[in-house]
Amino acid sequence: MRLAGLQRFSLCDYPGKMAAVVFTQGCNFRCPFCHNGSLLSSRNPGQEISAKKIFSFLRERTGMLEGVVITGGEPTLQPDLADFCRAVRELGFLVKLDTNGSRPGVLKRLLADNLLDFIAMDIKATLERYHILAGVPVDIAAIIKSITVISRANIPALFRTTWVAGLHRQEERYLIPAMLPENTRHVFQPFKPEHALQPDLCGMEQSRAAGQAPGRRSGRLPSPVDVSPVDQV
Ligand code: SF4
Repeated sequence: MRLAGLQRFSLCDYPGKMAAVVFTQGCNFRCPFCHNGSLLSSRNPGQEISAKKIFSFLRERTGMLEGVVITGGEPTLQPDLADFCRAVRELGFLVKLDTNGSRPGVLKRLLADNLLDFIAMDIKATLERYHILAGVPVDIAAIIKSITVISRANIPALFRTTWVAGLHRQEERYLIPAMLPENTRHVFQPFKPEHALQPDLCGMEQSRAAGQAPGRRSGRLPSPVDVSPVDQV
């Protein structure tokens, strides 16, 4: 696993659970609104940390934390993700995976091996505008497949969309939820313009960017300040 950070405690990344958050290095998308720019390249030697150190921390937290959130970057790009999930579960933690949904085959295998307790998938935009919000050409068939795999999985799941007023079209407010099967959970989460990948988004007035009145923002994406080198743990 190429790991880039550890947030030691979170009450908002795993719904209803006290969790640690592990960040993987590398992502195949370049969402213009992403504020985890340092996690996107496949290597970033300056912030890599070893699985050994992560597990040393987790062993100390058994019985205190309930879950571990694996996020990124895009965790499904990591070839040994299954082994990592298995090892986390063997310590007694629940595993939540955050994904951009680009690798449905990986999701399917993790679910078949019963290695996940919760999945959250980003829905970037309506399918015809997906490449705009993902920042790269996207295999739409893979996104549709991931939605199907997740919605049929017998574990809790959440679909979420970071709403960027400057990039989304107003009609996507209802078209995006309409893309999902019935009985699935979807939320819009606010965009934080401070560290957006696309420089002109950084200057967006925040309440406009969130599409909400100030003070009503509740969701969050992990921000670089949350990514602590594990040797500070
Ligand atoms: S928002 Fe997520 S999927 Fe998009 S570039 Fe950032 S880490 Fe990758």
